Amino acid sequence: MPVLNHPLNLLLLSTPVGPLGSGLGGGVELTLHNIAKALSERGHGVKIVAPVGSVCPSFSLVEIPGELQTTVQSEGRDAWITLPPDPVLANMWNYARQVQDEYDLLLNFAYDWLPFYLTPFFQRPIAHLVSMGSLTNAMDRIIGQVALQFPDTIAVHTQAQADTFPFSERCRPIGNGLDLSLYQFCPEPADYLGWVGRIAPEKGLEDAVAAAQKTGVLLKIWGVLQDVPYWHAICDQFPNGPVRYEGFLPTQELQQELGKCRALLMTPRWVEAFGNVAIEAIACGVPVIAYRRGGPAEIITDGKTGWLVEPDSVDGLVQAIARLDQIDRYVCRQQAEAEYSLAAMGDRLEQWFAEIAGIRNQEPEGERSG
Ligand code: UDP
Repeated sequence: MPVLNHPLNLLLLSTPVGPLGSGLGGGVELTLHNIAKALSERGHGVKIVAPVGSVCPSFSLVEIPGELQTTVQSEGRDAWITLPPDPVLANMWNYARQVQDEYDLLLNFAYDWLPFYLTPFFQRPIAHLVSMGSLTNAMDRIIGQVALQFPDTIAVHTQAQADTFPFSERCRPIGNGLDLSLYQFCPEPADYLGWVGRIAPEKGLEDAVAAAQKTGVLLKIWGVLQDVPYWHAICDQFPNGPVRYEGFLPTQELQQELGKCRALLMTPRWVEAFGNVAIEAIACGVPVIAYRRGGPAEIITDGKTGWLVEPDSVDGLVQAIARLDQIDRYVCRQQAEAEYSLAAMGDRLEQWFAEIAGIRNQEPEGERSG
Protein backbone atom coordinates (compact mmCIF):
# COMPACT_ATOMS: atom_id res chain seq x y z
CA MET A 1 0.00 0.00 0.00
CA PRO A 2 1.57 3.37 -0.99
CA VAL A 3 2.12 5.90 1.80
CA LEU A 4 2.62 9.66 1.78
CA ASN A 5 6.19 10.49 2.66
CA HIS A 6 5.90 14.28 2.75
CA PRO A 7 3.34 16.94 3.64
CA LEU A 8 1.16 18.19 0.79
CA ASN A 9 -0.01 21.62 -0.16
CA LEU A 10 -3.75 21.29 -0.74
CA LEU A 11 -6.38 23.51 -2.31
CA LEU A 12 -9.91 22.64 -1.15
CA LEU A 13 -12.70 23.81 -3.45
CA SER A 14 -16.08 24.07 -1.75
CA THR A 15 -19.60 23.56 -3.03
CA PRO A 16 -21.02 26.44 -5.13
CA VAL A 17 -24.58 26.07 -3.76
CA GLY A 18 -23.99 28.31 -0.74
CA PRO A 19 -21.34 30.08 1.33
CA LEU A 20 -19.70 28.02 4.07
CA GLY A 21 -21.64 28.58 7.28
CA SER A 22 -24.97 29.23 5.54
CA GLY A 23 -26.24 25.65 5.82
CA LEU A 24 -27.29 25.69 2.16
CA GLY A 25 -24.46 23.33 1.31
CA GLY A 26 -25.78 20.71 3.77
CA GLY A 27 -23.30 18.22 5.20
CA VAL A 28 -20.57 19.27 2.76
CA GLU A 29 -19.94 22.40 4.83
CA LEU A 30 -19.06 20.48 7.99
CA THR A 31 -17.24 17.80 6.00
CA LEU A 32 -14.99 20.35 4.35
CA HIS A 33 -14.23 22.05 7.63
CA ASN A 34 -13.38 18.77 9.35
CA ILE A 35 -11.26 17.53 6.46
CA ALA A 36 -9.34 20.81 6.51
CA LYS A 37 -8.76 20.29 10.25
CA ALA A 38 -7.77 16.65 9.91
CA LEU A 39 -5.25 17.49 7.19
CA SER A 40 -3.72 20.57 8.78
CA GLU A 41 -3.30 18.70 12.09
CA ARG A 42 -1.03 16.33 10.12
CA GLY A 43 1.08 19.16 8.79
CA HIS A 44 -0.43 19.52 5.33
CA GLY A 45 -0.90 23.02 3.95
CA VAL A 46 -4.60 23.82 3.43
CA LYS A 47 -6.28 26.69 1.61
CA ILE A 48 -10.03 26.85 1.04
CA VAL A 49 -11.82 28.38 -1.95
CA ALA A 50 -15.52 29.10 -1.38
CA PRO A 51 -18.32 31.48 -2.39
CA VAL A 52 -18.18 35.02 -1.06
CA GLY A 53 -19.70 35.38 2.42
CA SER A 54 -18.20 32.09 3.60
CA VAL A 55 -17.06 31.70 7.20
CA CYS A 56 -14.43 29.13 8.03
CA PRO A 57 -12.53 30.19 11.16
CA SER A 58 -8.82 29.38 11.50
CA PHE A 59 -8.26 28.54 7.83
CA SER A 60 -6.92 30.57 4.98
CA LEU A 61 -9.97 31.26 2.85
CA VAL A 62 -10.30 32.74 -0.64
CA GLU A 63 -13.80 34.11 -1.19
CA ILE A 64 -14.97 34.10 -4.79
CA PRO A 65 -17.83 36.24 -6.10
CA GLY A 66 -20.51 35.06 -8.50
CA GLU A 67 -23.96 33.57 -8.61
CA LEU A 68 -24.70 30.41 -6.64
CA GLN A 69 -25.52 27.09 -8.24
CA THR A 70 -28.97 25.56 -7.66
CA THR A 71 -29.10 22.12 -6.04
CA VAL A 72 -29.73 19.12 -8.27
CA GLN A 73 -31.62 16.95 -5.76
CA SER A 74 -35.07 17.49 -7.22
CA GLU A 75 -34.32 18.08 -10.90
CA GLY A 76 -34.90 14.57 -12.26
CA ARG A 77 -32.61 12.10 -13.99
CA ASP A 78 -32.66 13.79 -17.39
CA ALA A 79 -31.75 17.24 -16.05
CA TRP A 80 -29.42 19.29 -18.22
CA ILE A 81 -26.29 20.92 -16.97
CA THR A 82 -27.10 24.52 -16.10
CA LEU A 83 -25.08 27.51 -14.98
CA PRO A 84 -26.16 31.04 -14.10
CA PRO A 85 -24.75 33.96 -16.16
CA ASP A 86 -21.91 34.72 -13.73
CA PRO A 87 -21.32 31.35 -12.05
CA VAL A 88 -19.38 31.27 -8.80
CA LEU A 89 -18.54 27.67 -9.72
CA ALA A 90 -16.71 28.72 -12.89
CA ASN A 91 -15.05 31.62 -11.07
CA MET A 92 -13.76 29.28 -8.34
CA TRP A 93 -12.27 26.91 -10.88
CA ASN A 94 -10.80 29.76 -12.89
CA TYR A 95 -9.02 30.84 -9.71
CA ALA A 96 -7.85 27.25 -9.15
CA ARG A 97 -6.49 27.09 -12.70
CA GLN A 98 -4.39 30.19 -12.12
CA VAL A 99 -2.86 29.06 -8.80
CA GLN A 100 -2.66 25.30 -9.35
CA ASP A 101 1.14 25.28 -9.57
CA GLU A 102 1.35 26.27 -5.89
CA TYR A 103 -0.43 23.05 -4.86
CA ASP A 104 0.24 19.32 -4.95
CA LEU A 105 -3.41 18.40 -5.14
CA LEU A 106 -6.79 20.06 -5.63
CA LEU A 107 -9.68 18.58 -3.66
CA ASN A 108 -13.14 19.10 -5.12
CA PHE A 109 -16.24 19.07 -2.88
CA ALA A 110 -18.74 20.22 -5.54
CA TYR A 111 -21.33 17.79 -6.87
CA ASP A 112 -21.34 19.67 -10.16
CA TRP A 113 -20.48 18.80 -13.73
CA LEU A 114 -17.88 21.50 -14.39
CA PRO A 115 -15.01 20.41 -12.06
CA PHE A 116 -15.22 16.85 -13.39
CA TYR A 117 -15.26 18.09 -16.98
CA LEU A 118 -12.25 20.35 -16.31
CA THR A 119 -10.15 17.60 -14.69
CA PRO A 120 -8.15 16.61 -17.81
CA PHE A 121 -7.40 20.28 -18.55
CA PHE A 122 -5.53 20.80 -15.27
CA GLN A 123 -1.86 20.02 -14.81
CA ARG A 124 -2.26 19.27 -11.13
CA PRO A 125 -4.19 16.18 -10.02
CA ILE A 126 -7.74 16.71 -8.80
CA ALA A 127 -9.31 14.45 -6.18
CA HIS A 128 -13.11 14.48 -6.08
CA LEU A 129 -15.09 13.78 -2.92
CA VAL A 130 -18.57 13.01 -4.23
CA SER A 131 -21.11 14.05 -1.62
CA MET A 132 -24.34 12.51 -2.96
CA GLY A 133 -25.44 9.34 -4.70
CA SER A 134 -26.47 9.08 -8.34
CA LEU A 135 -28.99 11.80 -9.21
CA THR A 136 -28.73 12.64 -12.90
CA ASN A 137 -27.51 10.89 -16.06
CA ALA A 138 -25.25 13.85 -16.86
CA MET A 139 -23.43 13.58 -13.53
CA ASP A 140 -23.13 9.78 -13.74
CA ARG A 141 -21.62 10.13 -17.17
CA ILE A 142 -19.01 12.76 -16.33
CA ILE A 143 -18.00 11.25 -12.97
CA GLY A 144 -17.74 7.85 -14.67
CA GLN A 145 -15.43 9.29 -17.33
CA VAL A 146 -13.13 10.81 -14.71
CA ALA A 147 -13.15 7.56 -12.72
CA LEU A 148 -11.96 5.71 -15.81
CA GLN A 149 -9.38 8.23 -17.00
CA PHE A 150 -7.98 9.09 -13.54
CA PRO A 151 -8.15 5.94 -11.41
CA ASP A 152 -8.36 6.40 -7.62
CA THR A 153 -9.44 10.04 -7.81
CA ILE A 154 -13.10 9.46 -6.92
CA ALA A 155 -14.01 9.05 -3.25
CA VAL A 156 -17.46 8.69 -1.74
CA HIS A 157 -18.60 8.42 1.86
CA THR A 158 -20.20 4.95 1.98
CA GLN A 159 -20.53 1.74 -0.03
CA ALA A 160 -24.29 2.31 -0.26
CA GLN A 161 -23.59 5.63 -1.96
CA ALA A 162 -21.04 4.02 -4.32
CA ASP A 163 -23.60 1.35 -5.23
CA THR A 164 -25.94 3.97 -6.68
CA PHE A 165 -23.42 4.62 -9.48
CA PRO A 166 -22.80 2.36 -12.50
CA PHE A 167 -19.04 2.65 -11.77
CA SER A 168 -19.31 1.75 -8.07
CA GLU A 169 -16.14 -0.38 -8.10
CA ARG A 170 -14.14 2.72 -9.06
CA CYS A 171 -15.33 4.68 -6.00
CA ARG A 172 -13.43 4.67 -2.74
CA PRO A 173 -15.61 4.88 0.40
CA ILE A 174 -13.84 7.00 3.00
CA GLY A 175 -16.54 7.60 5.60
CA ASN A 176 -16.28 10.91 7.42
CA GLY A 177 -14.92 12.35 10.66
CA LEU A 178 -15.59 14.92 13.38
CA ASP A 179 -13.62 16.98 15.83
CA LEU A 180 -14.94 14.95 18.76
CA SER A 181 -13.65 17.45 21.31
CA LEU A 182 -16.50 19.73 20.18
CA TYR A 183 -19.16 17.15 20.98
CA GLN A 184 -19.94 16.55 24.63
CA PHE A 185 -21.22 13.21 25.82
CA CYS A 186 -24.66 13.65 27.41
CA PRO A 187 -25.51 10.66 29.63
CA GLU A 188 -28.99 11.76 30.69
CA PRO A 189 -31.42 12.76 27.95
CA ALA A 190 -34.45 15.03 28.25
CA ASP A 191 -37.81 13.71 27.11
CA TYR A 192 -37.80 14.68 23.47
CA LEU A 193 -36.63 13.37 20.13
CA GLY A 194 -34.57 15.23 17.55
CA TRP A 195 -34.53 15.61 13.80
CA VAL A 196 -31.65 17.49 12.14
CA GLY A 197 -31.15 18.38 8.49
CA ARG A 198 -32.06 20.50 5.52
CA ILE A 199 -35.85 20.74 5.42
CA ALA A 200 -36.40 19.40 1.92
CA PRO A 201 -38.49 16.53 0.47
CA GLU A 202 -35.62 14.03 0.08
CA LYS A 203 -35.13 14.18 3.85
CA GLY A 204 -38.60 12.81 4.65
CA LEU A 205 -39.27 14.95 7.72
CA GLU A 206 -43.02 14.18 7.54
CA ASP A 207 -42.39 10.58 8.69
CA ALA A 208 -40.56 11.76 11.81
CA VAL A 209 -43.43 14.14 12.57
CA ALA A 210 -45.93 11.32 12.04
CA ALA A 211 -43.97 9.14 14.50
CA ALA A 212 -43.92 11.98 17.03
CA GLN A 213 -47.67 12.36 16.63
CA LYS A 214 -48.27 8.64 17.19
CA THR A 215 -46.07 8.43 20.28
CA GLY A 216 -46.93 11.85 21.70
CA VAL A 217 -43.21 12.50 22.32
CA LEU A 218 -42.04 16.02 21.45
CA LEU A 219 -39.88 16.27 18.29
CA LYS A 220 -37.43 19.15 18.06
CA ILE A 221 -36.27 20.07 14.56
CA TRP A 222 -33.06 21.87 13.59
CA GLY A 223 -31.95 22.83 10.10
CA VAL A 224 -32.14 25.21 7.18
CA LEU A 225 -35.63 25.73 5.75
CA GLN A 226 -34.54 24.95 2.22
CA ASP A 227 -38.01 24.21 0.83
CA VAL A 228 -40.54 26.46 2.54
CA PRO A 229 -43.68 25.14 0.75
CA TYR A 230 -42.66 21.61 1.78
CA TRP A 231 -42.40 22.72 5.42
CA HIS A 232 -45.80 24.43 5.27
CA ALA A 233 -47.34 21.28 3.81
CA ILE A 234 -46.04 19.29 6.79
CA CYS A 235 -47.43 21.88 9.23
CA ASP A 236 -50.82 21.66 7.46
CA GLN A 237 -50.76 17.87 7.54
CA PHE A 238 -50.01 17.75 11.28
CA PRO A 239 -51.59 20.91 12.71
CA ASN A 240 -51.37 19.61 16.30
CA GLY A 241 -48.21 17.52 15.97
CA PRO A 242 -45.93 17.69 19.04
CA VAL A 243 -43.14 19.41 17.09
CA ARG A 244 -41.02 22.51 17.56
CA TYR A 245 -38.85 24.11 14.89
CA GLU A 246 -35.69 25.38 16.60
CA GLY A 247 -33.92 27.06 13.66
CA PHE A 248 -30.45 26.50 12.22
CA LEU A 249 -27.66 26.48 14.82
CA PRO A 250 -23.87 26.55 14.54
CA THR A 251 -22.17 23.26 15.51
CA GLN A 252 -21.28 24.30 19.06
CA GLU A 253 -24.88 25.11 19.97
CA LEU A 254 -26.35 22.32 17.90
CA GLN A 255 -24.39 19.64 19.71
CA GLN A 256 -25.54 20.98 23.09
CA GLU A 257 -29.19 20.69 22.07
CA LEU A 258 -28.77 17.47 20.11
CA GLY A 259 -27.05 15.82 23.07
CA LYS A 260 -30.21 16.15 25.18
CA CYS A 261 -32.34 14.19 22.72
CA ARG A 262 -33.52 10.68 23.58
CA ALA A 263 -32.80 9.78 19.97
CA LEU A 264 -32.21 11.30 16.58
CA LEU A 265 -34.70 10.27 13.90
CA MET A 266 -33.32 9.94 10.35
CA THR A 267 -36.06 9.36 7.81
CA PRO A 268 -34.62 10.10 4.37
CA ARG A 269 -36.50 9.09 1.23
CA TRP A 270 -33.29 9.03 -0.84
CA VAL A 271 -30.11 7.04 -0.46
CA GLU A 272 -28.36 9.34 1.99
CA ALA A 273 -24.69 9.38 0.96
CA PHE A 274 -23.55 9.48 4.56
CA GLY A 275 -25.56 11.52 7.05
CA ASN A 276 -23.24 13.70 9.10
CA VAL A 277 -25.97 14.15 11.64
CA ALA A 278 -25.79 10.42 12.48
CA ILE A 279 -22.18 10.67 13.65
CA GLU A 280 -22.83 14.00 15.37
CA ALA A 281 -25.62 12.33 17.33
CA ILE A 282 -23.64 9.28 18.44
CA ALA A 283 -20.70 11.56 19.33
CA CYS A 284 -23.03 13.11 21.92
CA GLY A 285 -24.23 9.67 23.05
CA VAL A 286 -27.55 9.97 21.24
CA PRO A 287 -28.89 6.78 19.64
CA VAL A 288 -30.07 7.05 16.03
CA ILE A 289 -33.29 5.59 14.72
CA ALA A 290 -32.90 5.45 10.95
CA TYR A 291 -34.38 3.78 7.92
CA ARG A 292 -32.32 0.81 6.84
CA ARG A 293 -31.02 2.40 3.63
CA GLY A 294 -28.05 4.50 2.53
CA GLY A 295 -25.31 5.85 4.76
CA PRO A 296 -27.09 5.66 8.14
CA ALA A 297 -27.53 1.90 7.69
CA GLU A 298 -23.73 1.58 7.46
CA ILE A 299 -23.02 3.93 10.36
CA ILE A 300 -25.57 2.65 12.87
CA THR A 301 -25.25 -0.81 14.39
CA ASP A 302 -28.74 -2.13 14.98
CA GLY A 303 -29.40 -2.63 18.68
CA LYS A 304 -26.07 -1.07 19.73
CA THR A 305 -25.97 2.55 18.54
CA GLY A 306 -29.63 2.80 17.61
CA TRP A 307 -32.29 0.96 15.63
CA LEU A 308 -32.52 0.39 11.90
CA VAL A 309 -36.09 0.38 10.70
CA GLU A 310 -37.81 -0.84 7.54
CA PRO A 311 -37.60 2.10 5.10
CA ASP A 312 -40.64 4.39 5.02
CA SER A 313 -42.34 2.62 7.93
CA VAL A 314 -43.70 5.06 10.50
CA ASP A 315 -44.84 2.11 12.62
CA GLY A 316 -41.25 0.85 12.57
CA LEU A 317 -40.11 4.21 13.93
CA VAL A 318 -42.74 4.06 16.67
CA GLN A 319 -41.65 0.55 17.72
CA ALA A 320 -38.00 1.63 17.77
CA ILE A 321 -38.81 4.64 19.97
CA ALA A 322 -40.39 2.20 22.45
CA ARG A 323 -37.12 0.23 22.60
CA LEU A 324 -34.73 3.13 23.19
CA ASP A 325 -34.03 2.04 26.76
CA GLN A 326 -32.08 -0.93 25.39
CA ILE A 327 -29.42 1.34 23.87
CA ASP A 328 -26.41 2.34 25.98
CA ARG A 329 -25.58 5.95 25.21
CA TYR A 330 -21.97 5.42 26.20
CA VAL A 331 -21.56 2.75 23.51
CA CYS A 332 -22.71 5.35 20.95
CA ARG A 333 -19.94 7.74 21.99
CA GLN A 334 -17.38 4.92 21.91
CA GLN A 335 -18.36 4.03 18.35
CA ALA A 336 -17.87 7.66 17.28
CA GLU A 337 -14.43 7.70 18.90
CA ALA A 338 -13.38 4.45 17.25
CA GLU A 339 -14.45 5.26 13.69
CA TYR A 340 -15.22 8.93 13.23
CA SER A 341 -12.44 10.90 14.92
CA LEU A 342 -10.39 13.39 12.90
CA ALA A 343 -7.40 11.08 13.33
CA ALA A 344 -9.25 8.12 11.81
CA MET A 345 -10.49 10.33 8.97
CA GLY A 346 -6.98 11.76 8.45
CA ASP A 347 -5.60 8.22 8.03
CA ARG A 348 -8.21 7.40 5.41
CA LEU A 349 -7.58 10.65 3.53
CA GLU A 350 -3.82 10.16 3.47
CA GLN A 351 -4.25 6.60 2.21
CA TRP A 352 -6.48 7.93 -0.56
CA PHE A 353 -4.09 10.69 -1.59
CA ALA A 354 -1.19 8.22 -1.60
CA GLU A 355 -3.06 6.18 -4.24
CA ILE A 356 -3.49 9.10 -6.61
CA ALA A 357 -0.95 8.79 -9.40
CA GLY A 358 0.13 12.42 -9.72
CA ILE A 359 0.83 12.60 -6.00
CA ARG A 360 2.55 9.26 -5.72
CA ASN A 361 5.03 10.18 -8.43
CA GLN A 362 5.75 13.66 -7.18
CA GLU A 363 8.91 14.42 -5.30
CA PRO A 364 8.87 16.36 -2.02
CA GLU A 365 8.67 20.15 -2.51
CA GLY A 366 12.38 20.96 -1.93
CA GLU A 367 13.58 18.23 -4.28
CA ARG A 368 11.56 19.28 -7.31
CA SER A 369 13.75 20.27 -10.20
CA GLY A 370 13.15 23.17 -12.54
N1 UDP B 1 -26.61 21.45 10.64
C1 UDP B 1 -26.16 22.54 11.38
N2 UDP B 1 -27.04 23.23 12.16
C2 UDP B 1 -28.35 22.88 12.25
C3 UDP B 1 -28.81 21.77 11.50
C4 UDP B 1 -27.91 21.06 10.70
O1 UDP B 1 -24.98 22.89 11.33
O2 UDP B 1 -29.09 23.55 12.97
C5 UDP B 1 -25.65 20.70 9.80
C6 UDP B 1 -25.23 19.39 10.42
O3 UDP B 1 -24.19 19.58 11.34
C7 UDP B 1 -24.79 18.57 9.21
C8 UDP B 1 -25.56 19.18 8.06
O4 UDP B 1 -26.23 20.32 8.57
O5 UDP B 1 -23.40 18.71 8.99
C9 UDP B 1 -26.51 18.20 7.43
O6 UDP B 1 -25.72 17.26 6.78
P1 UDP B 1 -26.15 15.78 6.43
O7 UDP B 1 -24.92 15.05 5.96
O8 UDP B 1 -26.86 15.13 7.57
O9 UDP B 1 -27.18 15.92 5.23
P2 UDP B 1 -27.15 16.74 3.83
O10 UDP B 1 -27.70 18.10 4.12
O11 UDP B 1 -25.73 16.79 3.36
O12 UDP B 1 -28.04 15.97 2.91
